[in-house]
Amino acid sequence: MRHINSLTNPLIKSLRSLHERKRRRQAGLFLAEGTRIVTEALELDWVPETLVFLEGREDDRMISRLIRMATDHGADIVMVSEAVLSKISRKDNPQMVVATFKEHFVPNDEVFSKSEEHQSNAWVILDRVRDPGNLGTVLRTIDAVSVRGVVLVGDCCDPFSVEAVRASMGAIFNVPIASMNEEDFIKETITYEGNILGTALPASVDYREADWSGPMLLMMGNEQSGLTQNLMNAATQLIRMPMLGRSDSLNLAVATGVALYEFRRNNS
Ligand code: SAM
Repeated sequence: MRHINSLTNPLIKSLRSLHERKRRRQAGLFLAEGTRIVTEALELDWVPETLVFLEGREDDRMISRLIRMATDHGADIVMVSEAVLSKISRKDNPQMVVATFKEHFVPNDEVFSKSEEHQSNAWVILDRVRDPGNLGTVLRTIDAVSVRGVVLVGDCCDPFSVEAVRASMGAIFNVPIASMNEEDFIKETITYEGNILGTALPASVDYREADWSGPMLLMMGNEQSGLTQNLMNAATQLIRMPMLGRSDSLNLAVATGVALYEFRRNNS
């Protein structure tokens, strides 16, 4: 265990740089904050590279357990002052624990291959999602409904940003994430043996009338412009959720939640 209290220490500098996407990609690492979320990661066999905790808290029950588990995984254990911790997490009241983990995307085959529970399951396809809060909330919802995972299509925000990881409330560690460009995704849909459901405001089919049988690729559109025409063309059905007031659309993560619970109701 090391004690570091200098903001200019190279490790502290490199942890702080993980707020930038370019640095995360270079290092292949991302930050997760909070005792509960880091414990969840370790219980799911994610291996931390570094575990940072607030000085004086090493005997807290949860934190001492985390230190033991992280030590067993060979992590670098670092004790820091509150000032250093808030610089690392860019928050005035930082969590007591921050850890780094290796970024991980699943291979594309995993999305299209047939698994045992394939028939009653679904992947959520996010077309050019821009808001990390939406992405994290979708991950959390996927975990809640227990569908297979998420596929990021096109130019999406980073699932491993601090904002997305926070919004996922730890689901980032339990939900497989794939990433591909639109062309590759559309190629795979041609031979996909299942339902490809697109959610879109111009759709004429009410979501309660749709065929929700699995396996399914559930496509959700970009926050500003919705699904691209190419993705709409790849859908076997296009559905809408009725908008009864004056708003013209639901928030992306809310629309995903409505659709996923309808999927689960039909495929329990
Ligand atoms: N102005 C955008 C448009 O024209 O599609 C609104 C996009 S909406 C904020 C983000 C995504 O959530 C949509 O692309 C769609 O996938 C889903 N969505 C939101 N409200 C919906 C609704 N009422 N019916 C179907 N899908 C909806």
